Amino acid sequence: MPVTVLFAAPPRLWPRYEAHLVAALAEAGVDARVVTSVDDPAQADYIVFGPGGTIGDFRPYARAKAVLNLWAGVETLVTNATLVQPLCRMVDPAMTDSMTEWVTGHCLRHHLGMDQHIHGLAGVWDKTTPPLAAERPVTILGFGELGQACARKLAAVGFPVTGWSRNPRSVAGFACLSGPGGLEAALSTAQILVLLLPLTAETENTLNAGTIARLPRGAFVINPGRGPLIDDEALIAALDAGHLAHATLDVFRTEPLPPDHAFWAHPKVTVTPHIAAETRPDTASRVIAENVRRGEAGEPFLHRVDRGRGY
Ligand code: NAP
Repeated sequence: MPVTVLFAAPPRLWPRYEAHLVAALAEAGVDARVVTSVDDPAQADYIVFGPGGTIGDFRPYARAKAVLNLWAGVETLVTNATLVQPLCRMVDPAMTDSMTEWVTGHCLRHHLGMDQHIHGLAGVWDKTTPPLAAERPVTILGFGELGQACARKLAAVGFPVTGWSRNPRSVAGFACLSGPGGLEAALSTAQILVLLLPLTAETENTLNAGTIARLPRGAFVINPGRGPLIDDEALIAALDAGHLAHATLDVFRTEPLPPDHAFWAHPKVTVTPHIAAETRPDTASRVIAENVRRGEAGEPFLHRVDRGRGY
């Protein structure tokens, strides 16, 4: 009897995932059928999900062995009281590569002062040279899968990187700080600050007027984590006051970012439309298939979310 994998992510994603999921499950040696609907919710053995998906109330799917999310962030699912099944977030190697490229690109833009040359005045021969990357400390708030991968790519370019996490961590080659006690030190050296925290009750407004004040004058802020990690008004005030040089933002409290939002027109804000790291169907399907295989073999799931901590 094949296991039933219910694809309940947004229907627009189905054409991109169907063939990859079917192939990945076969490759993993799982006898499965992948469907977009079931006659009876009790038929679903696994649920592939994503924000905007087709299930709001998970109670009828009580027999499902796991809900496998296509996104890394799970803030909307951990607060869904009807979802009691094991929940796994996405750790997709291609998504990780994408994030490291986006973060490194935007760090280099600010580090090298590229805007001055792209938008510079014709005829002005200003030979001001940027420091070396080795002289530009970067701090990454959130030193998990994505934070550490970005740190490795930034270090390869030469940036000294400090990582900040919830629990103490030791990662070779990087200064590691943790907990509320480590935040001030993490901020104090950050000429470039990258936010790669999950959104939880603890991390909301991590960057606020008080913590922004701890950053060195002229720091750059890069946020591909989640919009509510930053107090928007405090950020704009610090940019206007000249304390911060620029903010590059990929994620927002409301998405799509409303056309009249102050970020769009602000000369010191760059908006990208939540494209830092999209899940890629081919590699992500293999992660999903491996978790279905594990579920059927009675092995622990990969990337299981801890609801208590919220990520
Ligand atoms: P992860 O592996 O779970 O890492 C999260 C990191 O944040 C861990 O180091 C964790 O600390 C730390 N953290 C959590 N709560 C904290 C707190 N209260 N104080 C200090 N540190 C805390 O997650 P990930 O895969 O790297 O993903 C991170 C986030 O990136 C996702 O949640 C999502 O919001 C965002 N994201 C955005 C995009 C995009 O396209 N813009 C794409 C993918 C993901 P510990 O190490 O101690 O657990």
